Amino acid sequence: MMTNRICILLSLLAAGRLPAADDVLTRVAAHAERFGEVSRQIWETPELGFHEDKSSALLEQELRANGFEVRAGVAGMPTAFTASFGSGSPVLVVMGEFDALPGLSQKDVPQLLPVVPGAPGHGCGHNLLGSASALAAVAIKEEMQARGIKGTIRYYGTPAEEGGGGKIYMIHAGLFRDVDAVLAWHPADANRVNLGSLLANNGGRFRFYGVASHAAAAPERGRSALDGLMIMLNAVEFLREHVPQETRIHYVITNGGAAANIVPAFAEANLIARHPDAQVLDGIWERIMNCARAGALASGTRMEFVQGTNYANVLPNDALEEVLARAMQKAGGYEYTPAERSFAQQLQKTLGFEVKTPGPEHIETSKSETVSSASSDAGDVSWVVPTAQFTAATFVPGVSAHTWQAAACAGSSIGRKGMVVAARTLALAGVDILEHPAEVTAAREAYTKRLAGRKWTTHVPVDGKPPLDYAMK
Ligand SMILES: [Zn+2]
Repeated sequence: MMTNRICILLSLLAAGRLPAADDVLTRVAAHAERFGEVSRQIWETPELGFHEDKSSALLEQELRANGFEVRAGVAGMPTAFTASFGSGSPVLVVMGEFDALPGLSQKDVPQLLPVVPGAPGHGCGHNLLGSASALAAVAIKEEMQARGIKGTIRYYGTPAEEGGGGKIYMIHAGLFRDVDAVLAWHPADANRVNLGSLLANNGGRFRFYGVASHAAAAPERGRSALDGLMIMLNAVEFLREHVPQETRIHYVITNGGAAANIVPAFAEANLIARHPDAQVLDGIWERIMNCARAGALASGTRMEFVQGTNYANVLPNDALEEVLARAMQKAGGYEYTPAERSFAQQLQKTLGFEVKTPGPEHIETSKSETVSSASSDAGDVSWVVPTAQFTAATFVPGVSAHTWQAAACAGSSIGRKGMVVAARTLALAGVDILEHPAEVTAAREAYTKRLAGRKWTTHVPVDGKPPLDYAMK
């Protein structure tokens, strides 16, 4: 029996038909513990966007130790980096993020319990995102070496996804110009590959400058910045009726003046608009700008706009998502240990609703074109290079990103098991793409079809400096 098996194995080897999958998955397994530790270390030192000094340095160090050539501090951002192995085409990039969120400090326990109240925490699981992508890059690189696969595998360390838009500056710096395909993933409560997209968004600060005066004694001498702002926001409310219904517009007044008896010389609102299509959003945005101009004109004040986050929607790539779907089916999900099951149940009790999402053993691959209401700078990348992403079950079913529950999962063994699903999927898909030039061609065709003659545009200026202190404001 044994002899027979060995014979079969040897003949498969001789024919070069030994499934490559097993090899690359073995390589993922060999590094999984180390990158699990890396993810935990990043989770323990949560750093806000553009300040991910320790997190990016750790990932750089791990990739360097695994034979990657690292360029640190690219595109004018100290925490952005590229790590590269191999040469020539195809060029495959796996993207990693590692920034934390403000105020979501949380221990790895199923009750609300911050490590440091008010401090940042990994409520979006980017500690896992960055680490799983690095783990996959290492496995792909080893597989390329072992089997003489040609091409280049790169890891892009992309900072400040949570509002700073690191990837946009990396696009402007030309770092995606020679790239054939990009693979990415995001932590979530399910293992899922589909043709999902995210909303395009645009936002920033509208500042009005007026003239202060005594509100009772000399109102005629004053020009109220708050009036300008309120006229703008009222106009935005009227506009709401006449935009496509998928549009979202939300704002807060961050400064409405200092005292009721002083005509406000300064007022400010932070406004964000979203739509499933970046180009439709652009048209809506111009009308919002007109509301602001109208406010200034009517109130005799001056308006200034300070650009904030501007992310494009995701253009899904039909061909690459098919590669990812095959990969995830092979990669498989995982099971909870009894302790993890109990953690999951306790955490679900804090959600306050009945959870219908299936467990982490479940894999969902489909061609459904869902639009999640979040936004990401991965969307911008998808407009310039064929890009595909998926989610892995790093959070307990029912837990959504940007919550303390997500931060708890991101530091737990559940998070680390989910990140291995992601790394296995990325590694299998990555090797598949590098090995089969037809996949690269198909990805390019799918990209061109989705782009439909349109071009990527952004409100972030090409020569603009990254807002390195945006997370500190
Ligand atoms: Zn995120």
